[in-house]
Amino acid sequence: MQKLFHFDCAREVYQADACIISCFDARFDLALRKFLKRRGILTYDQIKIPGSAKALATPDTEADRDFVLRMVRTSMRLHHSTRLWMFAHSDCGAYPGAPVETQTADLQTATQVLQGAEPTLAVQCFFCDFDGVYSVD
Ligand SMILES: [Zn+2]
Repeated sequence: MQKLFHFDCAREVYQADACIISCFDARFDLALRKFLKRRGILTYDQIKIPGSAKALATPDTEADRDFVLRMVRTSMRLHHSTRLWMFAHSDCGAYPGAPVETQTADLQTATQVLQGAEPTLAVQCFFCDFDGVYSVD
């Protein structure tokens, strides 16, 4: 190996303020990070999946849902995450032409899946639009 970049990373294992599930759409990265910081979520495990909640609510295969649940459980085990915040967003490529209600319904279904699998996990859902972040009940 050849060193290409120097940066001193913290070595201490952390306790995550939250586990985050979001889409990998980079347009919302900055808003998401700023929102999390504003809400006191400074250290987090972020699971980025195209379509976010879709992999839990209406996965292409059961294996997709299992994989996401394993990632969540790994966050709980290694970094003691006790809450999970899940984000959908406007103009998501996983929901072409779908109304926002389709995504909020998937967020609610995904919440049920998560709470069924991990009842102690506190789940909250949000929707990122081009003008900010909204709560989803
Ligand atoms: Zn997306």
